[in-house]
Amino acid sequence: MELKAFEYELPVHLIFGAGKAECIGKEVKKYGKKVLIVTGRGSTKRSGLLDRVEKLLEAEGLEHLLFDEVEPNPLASTAEKGAQIARENGCEVVLGLGGGSIMDCSKSIAFAAVNEGKIFDYIYGKKTGKGALPLILVPTTCGTGSEGNCFAVLTDDETKDKKSLRDYSVIAKASVIDPELMMTMPKKVLASVGFDALCHCMEAYLSKACAPVTELFAKEGIRLIGENLVKAYENYEDKDAWGAISLASTYGGMVINQAGVAASHGLEHPASGLRNITHGRGLAALTPVIYKKSIPAAPERFAEIARLLGGKDENELVDILEQLLETLELKTSLGNEGVKMEDVDWMTENAFKVSLASINNHPRVFTKEEVREIYIEAM
Ligand SMILES: [Zn+2]
Repeated sequence: MELKAFEYELPVHLIFGAGKAECIGKEVKKYGKKVLIVTGRGSTKRSGLLDRVEKLLEAEGLEHLLFDEVEPNPLASTAEKGAQIARENGCEVVLGLGGGSIMDCSKSIAFAAVNEGKIFDYIYGKKTGKGALPLILVPTTCGTGSEGNCFAVLTDDETKDKKSLRDYSVIAKASVIDPELMMTMPKKVLASVGFDALCHCMEAYLSKACAPVTELFAKEGIRLIGENLVKAYENYEDKDAWGAISLASTYGGMVINQAGVAASHGLEHPASGLRNITHGRGLAALTPVIYKKSIPAAPERFAEIARLLGGKDENELVDILEQLLETLELKTSLGNEGVKMEDVDWMTENAFKVSLASINNHPRVFTKEEVREIYIEAM
């Protein structure tokens, strides 16, 4: 087999393991004395994690400030508001506690705290950033993998463009991945984030940009999720399964950092940008439709994914995925999630605006008309 030329650079510092949350205070202390804690309105308060983390910070003599306004599918304005609070209060470190939306918003706050103006000017390359505040990330869901990459997905308040800031300065100084923190997730959340993680690994593996190092992690991520997601879903006591899917989710974040995502993510972002739907549920509606049309373009890759998920060849893959969605009670359509038929033209145009790279990365490069058809089929 001829190996293609590639570059690989991913300076992530992962601290993985049950109980590792105890080191959060010590990790934060390495980077400053005053920390902005970024989280959402509910879950880290309900689970007691926020209290616990505040005590860990205090035990290290650190001053902390709370920004708890992050919403699902975070808006650029929320990140800009958090950044202003960080600046005005002289925060030296940002600590993100939560799921993908919170980690992405934390990254954006760390970035916007040192880069003036509208963050979307940096996302669209009109301006170049000059660093970010040091960042510590603590995921409480196993889906996005944001703790393992340089992406921060935001939605523009006015245009509804949902697109990633990509900047190596927002790679966390440390990501504390403690599977015990994930185990408070409701089942419904686990289903959608777990499927998101699987999609990251599958899409990176399918991507034309996939490099050999990435391939190793992507395939292992698919295997780990295939073997453990349903186990964790059905039994919250199964610590090994929870550990495995937590690790696979981080792998998913790492692999898309190098290989990018492909058509499922490319087409999902317009839907969640416009209608604020849950990312993993949008992927669940779109992925089977997209894969059915894509398999002839790369049968050996799809066959490998099918085998990693316990099947025998590419012809079984869509059935395997649909069965998985069924088990996770995640079978859905875009219409069911709140997307309307009249949105199809906007989403089609927007996909080619915000997701062109992902569309081109996919084994089969869909035309505008084909993308339109996919949206209609997924309704
Ligand atoms: Zn995703």
